[in-house]
Amino acid sequence: RLVPGGILAGIAVAATILLLARQQRSLAAALKYALRRDEFYLQYQPIIDLASGHCVGAEALLRWRRPNGESIGPDLFIPVAEQTGIITRLTERVLELIQADTGAFLARAPHFHIALNVAAKDFQSGRIVPMLDRFLERSGAAPSNLTVEITERTVVDLEKARGVLLQLRARGIAVSLDDFGTGYSSLSYLEALDVDHLKIDRSFIEAIGTRAPTSQVVQHIIAMARTLKLCMVAEGVESQAQADFLETHGVQYAQGWLFGKPMAFNELTETYRMWEPPKVRSGERSHRE
Ligand code: C2E
Ligand code: MG
Ligand code: MG
Ligand code: MG
Repeated sequence: RLVPGGILAGIAVAATILLLARQQRSLAAALKYALRRDEFYLQYQPIIDLASGHCVGAEALLRWRRPNGESIGPDLFIPVAEQTGIITRLTERVLELIQADTGAFLARAPHFHIALNVAAKDFQSGRIVPMLDRFLERSGAAPSNLTVEITERTVVDLEKARGVLLQLRARGIAVSLDDFGTGYSSLSYLEALDVDHLKIDRSFIEAIGTRAPTSQVVQHIIAMARTLKLCMVAEGVESQAQADFLETHGVQYAQGWLFGKPMAFNELTETYRMWEPPKVRSGERSHRE
C-alpha cells in the first residue's frame, strides 16, 4: 500500500470535522436570518394529571419552518444556537411567542403551567431572570404560570445554577430538571440543586414493561424522587400500559403521544379538559378541614 490506512482515516476524520464546522456556520447564519424573518413558532404539548386525566399545563416546543417549507427540528438547531450564543435571542423570541399565543388565557388560569426549555448557559448566567421578569410584567401572567426546564446534562456550574434557582423560587417560578436520568444526576446533585420537578427521560419510559435492565432503573428513579418529595413528570408516554405503570408507582404527571402531540395553543385549549384547583364555596367548609 502506498499510504498507511491510519493516515487515510485521519484525513477522512479531518474532512468530516471541516464539513461539520462549515455546516454549523451556515446553520448559525441561517438562524440569525430566521430570527429577523420570523420563521419560528411554538407548539404546545399537553401535560396530563394521571389521576384525573385533566390537562395541568403544556410544554412550549420551538419549531423552525424555512420559507422553502422545510422544517428543521430543535434537536438540530438548538445545539448550534447554544454554541453560537444565538440561543439567548431565541429564548426571548419564545417568550414573545408564548405571550402572543396564550393571550389573556394565563391571566385567567393562574394554575396552568407553561413549561419552557432554557439553555444551561442562560440559566447559569442568571440572564433568564430579568427575561422572565419582563415577560411577567408585559403579559399579565402569574409566576405560577411558568416552569423553567433545564437539562442536567448541560448544567455544569451547580453553585451558580443554585443561586438562580433560588431567585426564581423567590418569585414563585418552578424549576424542572429535564431528561432526568441521562446526565450525571446523582443524589448529591439533586441535593445541591433542589429543583421542584423531575422529568423522567423518555428512554426510561420506553423500557417500562420490557425485560431491559432500564425497566428496573425507572422504579428506582421513581422511588428516589418520592423520597425527596419531588413532583414527577414522565415524558414520552406512548401507551396506556406505561401510563398505568407510572400512576401505580406514584408518578403524578405525564406527557407523550398517548395524550397528545405538540399542537397549536388554541387547539390545546379547545381539546382538553383543564385541571382546576378544588373549589371551596363561600360559607361552606372544605370537607378536608
Ligand atoms: P425535551 O425538552 O425533552 O422535549 C421533549 C421532546 O420529546 C420533544 O421533541 C417532543 O416532541 C418529544 N416527545 C414528546 N412526547 C413524545 C412521545 O410520546 N414519543 C416520542 N417519540 N417523542 C415525544 P422536540 O420538540 O423535537 O424537542 C427536542 C428537544 O429540543 C427538547 O427536548 C428540548 O431539549 C429542545 N427544545 C425544544 N424547544 C426548545 C426551546 O424553546 N428552547 C430550548 N433551549 N430548547 C428547546
Ligand atoms: Mg423539555
Ligand atoms: Mg424532556
Ligand atoms: Mg427529552
